[in-house]
Amino acid sequence: MSPTLTNGFGSKARVDWDSIRLDFPLISGNDLVYFDNAASSQKPKAMLQAMENMVEHSYANVHRGVHTLSQEATDQYEAARKTVARFINAADDAEVVFTSGTTDSINTIAFSFGEAHIQPGDEILISGMEHHANIVPWQLMAQRKGAFIKVIPVLENGSLNLESLDSLMGPKTKLLSLVWVSNSLGTVNPIPYIIQKAHAYGIPVMVDAAQAAPHMPIDVQAIDCDFLAFSAHKMGGPTGLGILYGKRALFENLPPYRGGGDMIDRVTFEKTTFQGLPFRFEAGTPHILGAVAFAAVLNYLSGIGMRQIEERERQLSHSLRCQLKADFPEIQLLGTAPDSVSVVSFLVKGHHPMDVGVLLDNQKIAVRTGHHCCQPLMDRFGIHGTVRASLAFYNTEQEIARFLLALRKTIRLLR
Ligand code: PMP
Repeated sequence: MSPTLTNGFGSKARVDWDSIRLDFPLISGNDLVYFDNAASSQKPKAMLQAMENMVEHSYANVHRGVHTLSQEATDQYEAARKTVARFINAADDAEVVFTSGTTDSINTIAFSFGEAHIQPGDEILISGMEHHANIVPWQLMAQRKGAFIKVIPVLENGSLNLESLDSLMGPKTKLLSLVWVSNSLGTVNPIPYIIQKAHAYGIPVMVDAAQAAPHMPIDVQAIDCDFLAFSAHKMGGPTGLGILYGKRALFENLPPYRGGGDMIDRVTFEKTTFQGLPFRFEAGTPHILGAVAFAAVLNYLSGIGMRQIEERERQLSHSLRCQLKADFPEIQLLGTAPDSVSVVSFLVKGHHPMDVGVLLDNQKIAVRTGHHCCQPLMDRFGIHGTVRASLAFYNTEQEIARFLLALRKTIRLLR
């Protein structure tokens, strides 16, 4: 089975969302309201079928064997890379590296870019709404290299203080690494504008697209990012698989992050030379089944159309926000930036988010509570955590209504 080539934009005018929901066995088979999609999303049958198909017909290790089965597996694995490249509109398949997730992708660039380009006294710019995965790797690199982290401040409404950019960017700034969509607030940052601004200062930009790739079309050439990371498991794919995109000009000259099989050109005990892109960054046996299954999921998403998915999720999360604002004076919304998608974060005034989460769980509503791996952002708002409802395209208005009823009951019980 070779994945069809298709980009993420899709063209279907009308989508039958009720029948789409049937593609997801876990949620279509029970009455759970699953609003924890930002943590990990549910899986469509297309993922299972692709894995099953490979296990039954064409599984072997890749890039190694001369035997036919290994060549078939390699063809499928490389076809999966092509599907990802097409999905994000990369200029070249070799610019797409399979990693184990967003965290691994960011660590790869933090290490490799750090080794190649960071000198003592240099600065890395991030923002105040980053996930720990886009803070800690840069801190580790900064400690190793004697560099400094600078932070774009977050305004009260949960958007970035864009006016601060000029004062934060300068000749010492060697890289900007920024989240596209905040996993805690749902804020959509104006990534194309910010990238343009950074490039005017000669600063390359890495985008954490972990919460963007599941919810909107991604075109790496249009936004002109230098690196971009996302995880398969947040968009219907398997765990343990992520994507690292890098623009060839910058990416191909970076040193490897991990050493091992598959990433080498020639090894002697004295010296090793390395492969070029993308294999230089894929040491060891990759997640073969995962990559092939993810390609099937991307084709499935493209079949629906990423624009349709984005529109649906914006509608659903907007509806939830509006109803919370209108009917729940007991609630404080966190993050009211003009542009947001999927995530709705809030507090029930005077009550711990975890108590709210447990009472909702008792009513078969799954939400996330806590700091969402964004402790500095929680510090910014002087709180320990929030309740986070995060929606996907397979969620429904009926589920929002059930969620609001359950929340009403929760608030009564807490009193
Ligand atoms: N960045 C953001 C914005 C995220 O939401 C997440 C996952 N919560 C990550 C990075 C890390 O992703 P993963 O755990 O899949 O590596």
